[in-house]
Amino acid sequence: MATAETVTEHGAPQPFSPGETGTLVETAAEHDVFPPFDSTTMRIGDLPVFIAGDASNRAPLLHEAADEGHIAGRNALEDAPNCYRRRTPLGIVFVDPGVAFVGQRHAELEDSAAVGEIDFAHQGRARAAQRNYGLMRIYASRSDARVLGAEMCVPAAEHMGHLLALAIEQNLTVFDLLRLPFYHPVLEEGMRSALRELARQLGGSGGSDLADCEGYRCEALD
Ligand SMILES: Cc1cc2nc3c(=O)[nH]c(=O)nc-3n(C[C@H](O)[C@H](O)[C@H](O)COP(=O)(O)OP(=O)(O)OC[C@H]3O[C@@H](n4cnc5c(N)ncnc54)[C@H](O)[C@@H]3O)c2cc1C
Repeated sequence: MATAETVTEHGAPQPFSPGETGTLVETAAEHDVFPPFDSTTMRIGDLPVFIAGDASNRAPLLHEAADEGHIAGRNALEDAPNCYRRRTPLGIVFVDPGVAFVGQRHAELEDSAAVGEIDFAHQGRARAAQRNYGLMRIYASRSDARVLGAEMCVPAAEHMGHLLALAIEQNLTVFDLLRLPFYHPVLEEGMRSALRELARQLGGSGGSDLADCEGYRCEALD
C-alpha cells in the first residue's frame, strides 16, 4: 500500500516546479485543450504529473479509465515511468441494433486497407429472428491480412465487437479467423461473410477455405 510519504518521495523523481506544472495545465485550460500526455505512461509532458480517465479526454470509457488509473498510479511511484501497451480500442453503444467499433476506425485506415462488408438484411439468423437490419465492415491489412478494425451497427454488436477485439489483440489474420469454427445458424455467420469478402480481396485463403469459390448465396455453405 502506498503511503502519502512514498508518493511524495517517489512521485517527484524529476526536479519539480509547481509553477511549471501550473503553467502547462493553465495554458491548456486557457486554450480549451487538454494538456499533452503520453498514453503509454499517462505522464503529462515531461512533468512528474500523471493524468487518467475522463480528465484525459482520450477515450471516455470505464475500462480505459481503469487502465489509465492503474498506469498513472503505478508510474507516480516509479523513479522513471514505465510504458504500458494499451489494449485494442473497443467502444459499444447499447442500442438496437447495437453499435460497436473495434481497433482502427475507417477514418484512421491507410488508403490501401481492405474492407469487407456484410448487410444483415440477408443474414440467416437475423432474418429468422426478424432482426435483419444493419451493416458490418471489417478492415484488414493488404500486406499481411491482419485484421485492423471493424465498425458495425448490427444485432449482437457487443459480442461480435468483443470477438474481433480478441482477434486483433492476438494479431490474427483474416485467414486465421476463417479457420475457426462457426456454428449454424448464428449471427456470427454474418461476421464470417465479411471475413470471406475480405479473403476474396486479399487474394485467396491458402487453399484451406472456400473463400475463392463463387458463393452459393447460402450462408451455411459459403
Ligand atoms: C450516462 C453515462 C453512461 C456511460 N456509459 C458507459 C458505458 O456503457 N460504458 C463505459 O465504458 N463507459 C460509460 N460511461 C463513461 C464512464 O462512466 C467514464 O468513462 C468513467 O466513469 C470515467 O472514470 P473517471 O474515474 O475518469 O471519472 P468518474 O467516474 O467521473 O470519477 C470522477 C470522480 O471524481 C469526483 N470529483 C469530481 N470533482 C471532484 C473534486 N473537485 N474533488 C473531489 N472529487 C471530485 C466525482 O464526484 C467522481 O466520483 C458512461 C458515462 C455516462 C455519464
